[in-house]
Amino acid sequence: MKKNTMKLYSLMLTVLSTLTVLGVFLRPPDGWMPQITAAVERWTADPVYRYEPLVLPTPNQPRYVIRATLDEAAAVLRGEMTVTVPELRLDGMPFYLYSPSGAQMRVSDVTLNGEPVEVAANAKQVTVPAVKSATPQTVSLRFETALPKKPTRTGAWQGVYTVSYWYPILAVERNGEWVPRPDPLGFGDPYLMDAGDYDVELDSPASFKWYTSGPRVSEAEKEGGRKTFKWSAENVRNFGLVGGAAFQETQFATGTGTQVFVAVTDPAKLQQTAELTRSAVKTFTEKIGMSPYPVLNVVELPKGTVYAHELPNLALFSQDLWGYDDPEHWIVHEVGHVWFYNSVGNYEVETPWLDEGLTDYIALVEQEVRLGPEHYRKTIAEAWERYRQNQTYTPYKKGTPSGANDGISAMPYGSFATSQAHYYYNYLRPILMYHDIRQELGDERFFLFLRQYYTKNVGQTATRADLERALADVNPDSVKRLNLWLDTPNGQLISQIAGRFQ
Ligand SMILES: [Zn+2]
Repeated sequence: MKKNTMKLYSLMLTVLSTLTVLGVFLRPPDGWMPQITAAVERWTADPVYRYEPLVLPTPNQPRYVIRATLDEAAAVLRGEMTVTVPELRLDGMPFYLYSPSGAQMRVSDVTLNGEPVEVAANAKQVTVPAVKSATPQTVSLRFETALPKKPTRTGAWQGVYTVSYWYPILAVERNGEWVPRPDPLGFGDPYLMDAGDYDVELDSPASFKWYTSGPRVSEAEKEGGRKTFKWSAENVRNFGLVGGAAFQETQFATGTGTQVFVAVTDPAKLQQTAELTRSAVKTFTEKIGMSPYPVLNVVELPKGTVYAHELPNLALFSQDLWGYDDPEHWIVHEVGHVWFYNSVGNYEVETPWLDEGLTDYIALVEQEVRLGPEHYRKTIAEAWERYRQNQTYTPYKKGTPSGANDGISAMPYGSFATSQAHYYYNYLRPILMYHDIRQELGDERFFLFLRQYYTKNVGQTATRADLERALADVNPDSVKRLNLWLDTPNGQLISQIAGRFQ
């Protein structure tokens, strides 16, 4: 055969064997069609979130009172909820439904200020026909949320109930309009809400231990081996719970007013998890500031669950995490979200890079303190190599392509079509950004900047403008460096900053 024919022949063989591997060995249970359809829809649909940078949020401050019963046999939570806002600046009052996949949340018996009302409802939200008012408005309703028997963010898996985004959540307004509920893409945090105050009551088996976003107020025995648990939480971004009968726990007080609970499903990991948690809380308190919350929980979930994620005052990770390359990094990262995401909040959908980038950078600072400056230096050098070579971040293996085009970091959720690109722009690029700003400022002024940002925004929803302001207060010239990192397309950015990393 001629050389060209040989080449063509070998190319065809490669394509054929790749297709065989994809089709036979890696074929998803439902086949490829749903994935292809989802990818096409993602590329052709409206953006998940329309974006003009928000300078000043106009949060509502809802108070939620929820009474719910866990029906384990039916795997369902049934609840009654009353939500009060001190005023209503816009007509209508939408509530987002973040239903677990394949299990539509049901809402019924809605009243507005005590009067029954008809609501406009679809799969994503229900809208109560309220009108603008300078006085408090109160909505009451019943809801039913299935807890799929799956290892999902809201579900029941191996005796552990993970209960997140489980009640209708008051919508967020910006620039004089209610924002429609953002659509989840299967990775990252598609959530949008204002911080609120909560009184939550749950009827569950008495044998369960619960870890939640707020401290326990009381628990009372009931007939039939059940208990009523009550919690309250002030100024949290939502209220999450994790419960089950098989947790082993230990606890300690921080000395700054927070009680920390560490709970695991594999008792062999209790001590290591507790030591990491102590180290993280100490470093974050010293370097950033103290958490204003009375409770913090670090909870290991059974094998097969989402590898790590955050809820207010709940750092969650799966047993599987121990098999990843850097379990300690991700556990400390989730603890860090108490500082950036909950204490200093942001709209995760609008600025995913803001809480993820800062949280991941302070997780690296915890490692620097615990493992030494050489570890920090090596991690930054490795992160730079990944970034420069267009490879995504951990939890992916080294060498995994990011699939990132010539994009920028200051983009909302849904701007990147894959999880790999999401990690590249919202985690990897921002930790290099904070390292670069630290090089410019020196340690003393850099940590002053982080403390400024934290102290001035604690208890509020922060934006990019707040981050810029905190940096300008320490060194106005450094804002240029921050903006370079946030807004410059990759190719141009890499060539401009390479000299500072090589
Ligand atoms: Zn995170």
